[in-house]
Amino acid sequence: MAIVIVDDTIFSLEVIKSFLMTAGYLEVITVKSARELYQLVDGYSDRGIVEIDLILMDIIMPDVDGIEACRNIKKREWLTDVPVIMVTATTEKENLQLAFSAGAMDFIKKPLDRVELLARVRSALRLKHETARRKARETELLEVTHQLQEANERLQSLSFLDGLTGIANRRHFDQELLQESRRANRENNPISLIMLDIDYFKAFNDTYGHLKGDDCLKTVASILKKSLKRPGDFAARYGGEEFAVVLPNTDDAGAALVAEELRASIEGASIKHINSLCADYVTVSLGVVTRLPEQVETPDDLILAADRALYRSKHEGRNRVSVERLE
Ligand code: GH3
Ligand code: MG
Ligand code: MG
Repeated sequence: MAIVIVDDTIFSLEVIKSFLMTAGYLEVITVKSARELYQLVDGYSDRGIVEIDLILMDIIMPDVDGIEACRNIKKREWLTDVPVIMVTATTEKENLQLAFSAGAMDFIKKPLDRVELLARVRSALRLKHETARRKARETELLEVTHQLQEANERLQSLSFLDGLTGIANRRHFDQELLQESRRANRENNPISLIMLDIDYFKAFNDTYGHLKGDDCLKTVASILKKSLKRPGDFAARYGGEEFAVVLPNTDDAGAALVAEELRASIEGASIKHINSLCADYVTVSLGVVTRLPEQVETPDDLILAADRALYRSKHEGRNRVSVERLE
């Protein structure tokens, strides 16, 4: 790691270099102009690519002065954290202001005082190393956060709860429907399934934003949960803006009643939806199917049938319940 001195007078270069070398800084590179400095930082000098820790730059130089040179090299992304200390005979405020706005970190007056020079060099180097350490820590932290996020997602997918709404997720629903379907078979009971889809929900997101859309999904989920009264009733987020409700031991009349209650409760929540084409508020379309004890349909058959009913509700104007009969 090198300290670079930029000065057009050999004498200054030699003095600063000897101060630094006697203080133990072994890699000190001297250049005599801004042009030489550009070559060095861009890796075109004989030294090839050099890792630079600090630049000491004379302000007054022919051709390109120190302030201009500082501004120029600070455009390079890899030099933004490399401190530049201006070495200057003038301490006019205006000049110093220019130097700072060009990206300089500090300045030292000429004629040079050895103790002052070394103190400023030390603190500039300390700052640079601190910055580097902080950046490394930030990168590390980002990496850990990323890993945590991934772990959370994995856990979520293994869990039974939908991350957004907190009600059962699709995986849980599949298991529940299978289990309840088997139980209904064994015990000779009817079982009903309601599929439910929010009307014009894309328009809702487009109108109010995705976050409000998420809030709406949470509200619908909580209404479902609240409205179901029997301990065996089960509500899940089926995916996107679709929900499903399993009603064990419930016949078609009962299921249609529950579905109508759900529809009315969601409409009654009065969640404003100015771009819905069927109401002023958020509404849902529902499809209901019931399997009676003598029927043989599988859980998948039930889902398909409830879906058919749901799409009939959509087709017939939304915000309504349709019932599908199994043959
Ligand atoms: P339809 O009345 O026919 O059901 O129309 P729709 O707009 O509700 O149906 P469509 O399937 O076209 O759009 C569903 C929208 O639901 C699109 C999608 O961005 C949104 N959506 C799905 N999951 C989420 C979610 O988790 N959060 C939010 N905010 N939006 C979601
Ligand atoms: Mg929809
Ligand atoms: Mg949908």
